[in-house]
Parts: sequence; C-alpha cells; structure tokens
Amino acid sequence: MSAAELGEAVRARETTAVEAAGAYLDRAADVESDVHAFLHLDRETALAQARAVDERIAAGEDPGPLAGVPVAHKDVFTTVDMPTTAASRILADWRPPYDATVTARLRQAGMVILGKTNMDEFAMGSSTENSAFGATRNPWDLTRIPGGSSGGSSAAVAAFEAPLATGTDTGGSIRQPAAVCGLVGAKPTYGGSSRYGLIAFASSLDTPGPIARSVLDAALLHEAFSGHDPHDSTSVDAPVPPVVEAARRADVAGLRVGVVRELGGEGYQPGVQQRFQEAVELLESLGAKVVEVSCPSFDAALAAYYLIAPSECSSNLARFDAMRYGLRVGDDGTRSAEEVMSLTRAEGFGPEVKRRIILGTYALSSGYYDAYYGSAQQVRTLIKRDFDAAFENVDVLVSPTTPTTAFPIGERTGDPMAMYLADLCTIPANLAGNAALSVPCGLAPEDGLPVGLQIMAPVLADDRTYRVGAAVEAALNERQGGPLLANSAYAV
Ligand code: GLN
Repeated sequence: MSAAELGEAVRARETTAVEAAGAYLDRAADVESDVHAFLHLDRETALAQARAVDERIAAGEDPGPLAGVPVAHKDVFTTVDMPTTAASRILADWRPPYDATVTARLRQAGMVILGKTNMDEFAMGSSTENSAFGATRNPWDLTRIPGGSSGGSSAAVAAFEAPLATGTDTGGSIRQPAAVCGLVGAKPTYGGSSRYGLIAFASSLDTPGPIARSVLDAALLHEAFSGHDPHDSTSVDAPVPPVVEAARRADVAGLRVGVVRELGGEGYQPGVQQRFQEAVELLESLGAKVVEVSCPSFDAALAAYYLIAPSECSSNLARFDAMRYGLRVGDDGTRSAEEVMSLTRAEGFGPEVKRRIILGTYALSSGYYDAYYGSAQQVRTLIKRDFDAAFENVDVLVSPTTPTTAFPIGERTGDPMAMYLADLCTIPANLAGNAALSVPCGLAPEDGLPVGLQIMAPVLADDRTYRVGAAVEAALNERQGGPLLANSAYAV
C-alpha cells in the first residue's frame, strides 16, 4: 500500500496503527542485516506510539490523512524518546531534552516514528559512507551507495522498511539519495519547513523534506510537517503551497519547461542523459512547452557551495565542545578544559567533518574572508539572478538530479572532489532557496539503476514541482506497466 492508501485504511478502521507499525518492523527485522538503514530501531517505543494513535482515533479524533502511517526519521532531528546522533561519535547515545518541530508535527499528524535513520556524519556527504556507525547499502544493489546524506532514509523506503521517511537537504541530500534509490524526494523552499531541533550543518541552506515511493505520498508528508514555526527565525510566515492538490492534479498542459543547458553534457553518464532526454520528450508529449535555458552562473555553484557550507559548519560545530553534552575525552583531573575539548573533537569527529571545519575556518579567517567567503556570497547572488531571469520565461526548470547512477561503495571515499560532484545539479536550488523535487525517470540501460529527473520551481511555488513530478510519474507508470521500484530486488 502507498502511504496515502494506508492512511485511508486506518481512517476507515480496516487496519490499525499497531498493525501497520508491526508489519514494517517485521520487514525491517528481515532486511536490516543487508541494508543497515537504521541507527536506532526500537520496537517497543514505536508500538507504544502506535497504540496511542489508535486510542486517539478510537476516541473520535481525526489527526489527518497520515494518521497511523509509519515513518523513518533521519537521525539529525531531535526526538525525546529516541537517541539523536547525526551519525557522529561525538553525539553517540545522546538523548535530546526536546522534539524538533518536524518531529512534533509528525506526532501531531498521528504518524508512528519507527526509528532513526543512518546518514553521513552531520549530513556531510553523498553516500552515507561518512557515518561513524557504518555504511548503508542501496537496496537495488547492495554493493552500491544509497546516496547521502539521507541515505538511511532512502534505503529504508526503497527496501519497504517504511512507507515514508524524512530527510534534510543542504546541497542535495534528499534529492540525490531519492534519485539513486528510485524514489521521490523534495527539497521545499528554504524556510518552508522548520529547522528548529534539526542539528545544524549550514544554517542558510538546511531544509527538511520528504522521501517517498510516490509523488502523492511525498506531498502528504511535506504538508504534514511544513509551515510557519515561530521557533525558527528563518521560517517563512506564509501558507504551505498546495502540494497535495498539485500531486493529484498531475497535468502539465501549457506549462513552460526550461531545460538548463549547464546541467548536462560532458561528464554525465550516457544512460542518465538518455533517460533525462526521454523525460523531456515525455513532458512535451503531455503538452508542456519545452525550451532551452542558460544559467551561466550555475557553473560556479559547486565551488561557492564548498566555501559557504564549510564556513557555516565551522561555526555551527563549535558547540560540540565536550562541556555541555555529548562525548568527553581525557577529563581525568589533570587536563585543562581546552585540552579536553581538543582531545574530544579529535576523537569525536570523522575525517570529512574535520576537513570541512578546517576549510571553513580558513575561508572565514580575516586575511581570506573577502577572497573566499565574500566571493562565494557574490556568486550566490548571481545564481539567484539566473533563476529569477529564467523564471520570467518558464514555469519550471528541469535537469538530471545526479550526473551518474549509484556508484559502488568505496569508489569515491579517497577522492573528496569526486564525491562532491554528486551534487552538481542539486546545489543551485539550495544556494537560491528555491523549491526542487526529484522523481524517477527510468533505469539507465548500462547498469539497470534508477535515474532521477529534477524539477525546480521559484520560491514558494513548490506545488509546481509536484504537479510536474506527478504527471511524469503517471505517464511512466502507464508506459512501464507499474512503478519503477517493482524492478528492485527488495520490492514487495
Ligand atoms: N553532499 C553535499 C555535501 O556533502 C550535500 C549534503 C547535504 O545536502 N546535507 O555537503
């Protein structure tokens, strides 16, 4: 069942939250030793939540369309009843004293949090190999990465261990894992979903969003946890765009679609290019008007991102000082607080996190600030202007979500630059704050692995990405005779 169908079945009292959670927990028990999507999976806590939801429903409450539907929750959101680690040794076993706003809204919606999913440490990475607690595997091919940083969430949904999952997207961490696992993933407009209780990586970019097996399911989850939050000063005080309505509408007739010239060509896997090209032709056959659009500043997006994100992270991660919470190393009565901080950070952070703190500290240092951080911020403005100019002529922009399909585990761990290239197409929307969504658009002929189509829309026009995504999904399902995910070894 889709999440939408499961929610309807719970409302119609054809099944219960306890039964649904039990079924998914059983599935997870069967496949977790292969996939390793979860860092924390606690049957009793999940079932206790499910019982409480069933009681609310029995008492006549209607928490909404996702009541009783289980969800896998990225381990970067705080949860009072489960540990929250951001996949870092520095937070191993940390129990937060409060729920993130996203967590609280899942609970209000009557959703059952099955457990916390694996990720790259502090959301830095594209493969989930940077987790301090071991890699997650892609259910399409266990020797390959599930994407990252929300790779535990994508793997859990693709392996049918959960119908839905949360993710966060700072440079592509929802769209890229969704794309390489054959799923739908959306990065809402920046500020459209709350960062309160989300462990910070790069605060001007971090955006919570949904991962699902269908566009409608993603829209339902998007709607459930988004919207204004007075606890987050960058939260947008505007209504949530009508994403569920758009997912149901699913038509593109008359819509103007721009193909971004800079996001394709050399360096892109041939099968990715081919499926993307076919998706563009499909949109045309469905009545969209397709034109090519140039966004020249996108060529500098990756470089700007790898100055801005490390700069913000070097500041944000200063809070892990061994004094207030988390790991503390070497506090034996002989050492100064500064020595303990230093020993703790040396042992508690992994190599990618250290690399970024060093890069960011350097980029922000007084002698280099203007040359690096300052220039990167200027590039960011140029990228935003490219988007603004493009959206004067088109309603949405499209590109492949990633240059390649899922790569083998280990292939890029020794080469940070190669790893960073995985987010070439997704980063512009983060830098400008736009809405963007990835929807499956077929399997690459050379390796049989999923390819994602990225749809980008202006700020607060998230509904357009769902409308286009749903149209592509419906047409492809009809052409293929069912969902793409049915081809995965872990499909049920
Ligand atoms: N892969 C990118 C990075 O390593 C994006 C990560 C993210 O979106 N959290 O920074």
